Amino acid sequence: MNHDDLRIWSKRAADWAHDYHATLRDRPVRAPLIPGAIARQLPEVPPEAPEPIEAIFGDFARIVPPGLTHWQHPRFFAYFPANASPASMLAEQLANAIAAQGMLWQTSPAVTEIEQVMIDWLRQALGLAEGFTGTIHDSATTATLSAILTMREQALDWAGLTEGLSSQPRLRLYASAETHSSIDKAVRIAGIGQSNLVKIPTDASLSMRPEALDAAITADLAAGFQPIGVVLCAGGTSVGAFDRMGACIAVAKSHGLPVHVDAAWAGSAMICPEFRTLWDGVDGADSIVFNPHKWLGAQFDCAVQFLRDPTPQVKTLGLRPTYLETAGREEVVNFNEWTVPLGRRFRALKLWFTLRAYGLEGLRARIRNHVTWSRELAAALAELPGVSIVTHPSLSLFTFALQDDAATEALLARINGDGRVYLTQTRHQGRYVIRVQIGQFDCTQEDVCMVEQVVRAFL
Ligand SMILES: *Cc1c(COP(=O)(O)O)cnc(C)c1O
Repeated sequence: MNHDDLRIWSKRAADWAHDYHATLRDRPVRAPLIPGAIARQLPEVPPEAPEPIEAIFGDFARIVPPGLTHWQHPRFFAYFPANASPASMLAEQLANAIAAQGMLWQTSPAVTEIEQVMIDWLRQALGLAEGFTGTIHDSATTATLSAILTMREQALDWAGLTEGLSSQPRLRLYASAETHSSIDKAVRIAGIGQSNLVKIPTDASLSMRPEALDAAITADLAAGFQPIGVVLCAGGTSVGAFDRMGACIAVAKSHGLPVHVDAAWAGSAMICPEFRTLWDGVDGADSIVFNPHKWLGAQFDCAVQFLRDPTPQVKTLGLRPTYLETAGREEVVNFNEWTVPLGRRFRALKLWFTLRAYGLEGLRARIRNHVTWSRELAAALAELPGVSIVTHPSLSLFTFALQDDAATEALLARINGDGRVYLTQTRHQGRYVIRVQIGQFDCTQEDVCMVEQVVRAFL
């Protein structure tokens, strides 16, 4: 295959994509879960001779779709969305064609400079204070790891980078019980250790209790431990919990600790001014992550980290061997120094296309619809016999359950076996509950109503 073939086949691929998206509503949302069903259709050994692209494309069209859970299906209500606007798909196509590696400014000035402008567009769009800069990571997990590594090194005055952690005091990090498992993963990888992640109890509104945070830090200091920072949750994955930013940040600052906010899902909603009360006080944070790839239409992967001051993170993650020195241009930003990987894709392009093709108004309209439809659906489900709403909509996420866990689990299995909609589960305060989140880019009100019809049919 050469570039002339690519020209033909990329048009074929675009046609295939159009048909795929046009027929999504007719397909079951979740893949049939038959282990090995796809792998069995591939040869066990790699090909020695080149194969014609017709054969490869044909096998793709035959083998792959039946093994897909359709994340862009308008009735995908599971997990959180990984929604992808058509404009962002187009941008990804162009980024793929360019295939630039933007590790340094000079390895493609457009990659770095458009990323800088997109970070500032998004800062304004979310209503964050001037002065935040930032960068794009592959995932919120990596952004959070970067923030926690930075907290570690700030606390150790950068001794950990050179000496390791074996002679250091016991480091302690604080987060609420509602925070995502990526915080647990980060403390493990960062050498802090799971047992030094202190989960602070939450109150009835599911916010971390600020006075409990204060007490935990004070007790750790008395025990000779070294607190390094606080991670706050703005829209938890399980049921959409929010920590009270202002009060929790005030406690952290009173102990001189930096704060990282995980708004991976809910951050996108902050383009609507009316939702910003949910994270009042967030401007006091040092680092904030949100995933435009979840709810803003910039397709996976795209995680934005805002930084109050990039210096500590660059001091932690930046390395400049001679072969990465940039010819006499110290004023330029080399984003590899802000992130864990060296190489970086041109992720800003899909933000540029998406923000322009829909405008903030178009994106706000979608998010507002999702929130409204979520409230309407929760109200409709509450009318059904035996159904109780366990957590009320936090933005567009709520949970419901039947009388007992076994009945709820059986209902979920029937719903997902049916295929018209796809829902997932979580455990909330010990109870097995079904999660409903609305956020798919092309989802309509009729698609949302289908959830009520399917639940009613299987009660
Ligand atoms: C989805 C999610 C994450 C993890 O996001 P990745 O980009 O997949 O690493 C972290 N925190 C919260 C609150 C999330 O919803």
